Amino acid sequence: MDNWFNLYRASHSLEAHALKGALEVEGIPVRLSGEGLAGAVGELPVDLLQVTLLVREQDRSRAGRVIERYQQRQGNGWLCGQCGEENEANFEICWRCRHDPHDA
Ligand SMILES: [Zn+2]
Repeated sequence: MDNWFNLYRASHSLEAHALKGALEVEGIPVRLSGEGLAGAVGELPVDLLQVTLLVREQDRSRAGRVIERYQQRQGNGWLCGQCGEENEANFEICWRCRHDPHDA
């Protein structure tokens, strides 16, 4: 059996899925935990649920570097709250779906 290790706690589901995609591009299998709580908790918006990313023990150091790169990029940009796409810091609206983050 593989040992799955808690790599990172995402602040919301969109971030978790963005990170999962980034890790899978690197060939690192990812499991998410926490999303299934939605039904138990009740009416919480999905965006507010914390989601933990798990990776296998042998992928731990590689996965850590992917997370670091991701977080460095976050410092220079923002994640669209509507479609989850990454945007450069100087973008006023999402380049993909044209969502305006200031117009919440
Ligand atoms: Zn968007």
